Amino acid sequence: MKIDILTLFPETVDAVLHESILGRAAKKGLVDIRCIQIRDYTDNKQNQVDDYPYGGGWGCVMMAQPLKACLDAAIAAAPEGLRRRVIYLSPQGQPYTQETAKRLSRGYDHLVLVCGHYEGVDERFIEACVDEEISLGDFVLTGGEIAAMAVADSVCRLVPGVLSDEECYTGESHWDGLLEYPQYTRPEVWEGRAVPEVLLRGDHEKVGRWRRRQQLERTRDRRPDMFEKLSFTDKDDLKLYEEVKSGRDRLKLTAPVTMRPATEADLPELLRIAGEASAWLKKQRVDQWQDGYPAERHFRFDLERGECFAVLHGEELAGFFVLSTREEPGYAAISDGKWTADMPYCVLHRLAVAEKYRGSGLADKLMQLVERQAGAYGLRCVRTDTHKKNKPMQRLLRDNGWRYRGNVTVRVGEGHDPARQGYEKILKK
Ligand code: SAM
Repeated sequence: MKIDILTLFPETVDAVLHESILGRAAKKGLVDIRCIQIRDYTDNKQNQVDDYPYGGGWGCVMMAQPLKACLDAAIAAAPEGLRRRVIYLSPQGQPYTQETAKRLSRGYDHLVLVCGHYEGVDERFIEACVDEEISLGDFVLTGGEIAAMAVADSVCRLVPGVLSDEECYTGESHWDGLLEYPQYTRPEVWEGRAVPEVLLRGDHEKVGRWRRRQQLERTRDRRPDMFEKLSFTDKDDLKLYEEVKSGRDRLKLTAPVTMRPATEADLPELLRIAGEASAWLKKQRVDQWQDGYPAERHFRFDLERGECFAVLHGEELAGFFVLSTREEPGYAAISDGKWTADMPYCVLHRLAVAEKYRGSGLADKLMQLVERQAGAYGLRCVRTDTHKKNKPMQRLLRDNGWRYRGNVTVRVGEGHDPARQGYEKILKK
C-alpha cells in the first residue's frame, strides 16, 4: 500500500505515521507512506500557496496550481499500474467509517490524500482531480492533516502483515457492525474492581460466548443506530441477538451498587422483592418449597442476627441476600459429590433482586457483595444449594465462579421436590 499525503506540514505528519506499528510496517516494506510539501510546487517566487477568495469573505483559499503540480509529481513518482484513488479530506465529504477503510485497503494500492488548510481549496481542483471527499466527522478542523493521518493509519493496519494476525482487527469495534467487548489486563483486582470471573477460568468456549454477548449488549446500549442494522445468519449469533434485543428495555445501572445490613424498616420492601422473585420462579416451574415463603418470620430471624443484607442501587433497595454463618447440618448431606473438606464456610440462604432490575447486571454485583461479606466474616468458603430446575440461579452461580459440587437432598413437606444442587465458591486470599 502506497500512500502519498500532500500537505503544508509534512514533518508533523511524518513524525506521527512513522512511529509504532506503522513505522515497523514501513521498515518491513509493507506500506510506503510519504508526505509531500505542497509549497515546493508553486510557480510563484514567493512560494505562495493561497490567495483571497473571489467574491470577498473571510480568510484565504488554497490555489489549484500548486495542488495539481504536487499531485502530478506524486503520480509520476509512483510505479505504473497502481490502482489509485485521490482523496480530499474535507468536512463536506462522506463520513469516514471502518467500511471505507476496508474498501480503500482492498480496492486500491495507491492513495493520494490531499490536506486542505485555511478556508479550503479552489473548487476547480476538486472537480478536476479528486475522486472522493472524506470527512472525519461533523466538525471542522484547521487542516486536513489529522484526518489524513486517521485514514492512513486505519487503512494501513488492514494491510496483510501489518498486524500480527487478521484476528487483531476482525474482532475489533466496527468490523462486523458491532462494538468490541470490554478488555482487562493485570492485576486481577484493581482498586476493589475484579476482572469478570469467566475470563479467569480458561474455558475458551465460555469466554467466546461471554464476549459475543458483551459485544451485542454494548452495541445495543451505546449505539442503537448500529444495533438496528445488525443481521445474522449464524444460528448461535441469531439466538443471542434475539435475547439481547428483547432485553433492550431493561433498566440500566446508573448509580453505585452498595450494601448494608437490612433493618426492620426494610421489611415491607424485602417482602415485596422476595414475593416478586417467588412468583417469577413459580412461572419457571421451580418448586421452591419454603414453608409459605416469603413471610415476615423468614426474615426476622436473619434480621436479628444481622445476616440479611440490603443491596442498594444508589439509594434504592434493589435486592437482598442472606448470608449465614450458622451451622447447617443438612449441608453435609451431599449425596454424590463433595464439599471442599475441612473448611469453615458460610451459607448463602436466599437472594433476590427486584423485578425491574432483572437483566440489568445487578445480580452479578450482588454476588460480588456476597463474596465481600464472606470475607468480612473472615471466611473463604461460601456454599449454597439451589433447586434442580432453577436454571437462572445455576447460571448466575456458574457465571460468578461457583462450582457445582453434587446433589443435595433437603427435608421438605410432602408433595414437594427435595432435589437440590450444591454449589460452592472458594474465595481467593
Ligand atoms: N471552509 C471549509 C468548510 O466550511 O467546509 C472548512 C475549511 S477547514 C478550516 C480547512 C481544511 O481542514 C479543509 O480544507 C480540510 O482539508 C480540513 N478539514 C476540516 N474539517 C475536516 C473534517 N471534518 N474532515 C476532514 N478534513 C477536514
